[in-house]
Amino acid sequence: MSADLTELYQQVILDHNRRPRNRGRLPTANRVAHGDNPSCGDQCDVFLQLDGDRIKDISFDGSGCAISQASASLMTTQLKGKTAAEAEALYKKFHEIVTTGKEPEEISDLAAFAGVHTFPARIKCATLGWHAALNALKGDAAPATTESHTD
Ligand code: ZN
Repeated sequence: MSADLTELYQQVILDHNRRPRNRGRLPTANRVAHGDNPSCGDQCDVFLQLDGDRIKDISFDGSGCAISQASASLMTTQLKGKTAAEAEALYKKFHEIVTTGKEPEEISDLAAFAGVHTFPARIKCATLGWHAALNALKGDAAPATTESHTD
């Protein structure tokens, strides 16, 4: 990767940290899932408004390291408007990027996380929000409560 591109991708992560997109509870959500990455202390809730099979709206809320929060923010921008199948395909692409460092052929903000593959312990940080989103897609229609969680 050229130095310019590396710089560009670092900017993507910094920008999502500074100005997280779609952050906060989504009042119209009909699906919610909690993600937890104890090895780093990252937490992420993902709220989905599903319209049939399509993600009409999405938000996240959470705390943790910069990678986890930037990745969750970017994830919401990538999944909004997508069908469940498209979301799964995007996750597969993102997972390949963060585990192998192999960049997609098209220029994509997802490639901003290619450098994560050199820090295997951080892969869970980068995929936390995505796991929560996919769990929310597969979950029950009623919002799950996290209030019974004691851990
Ligand atoms: Zn982390």
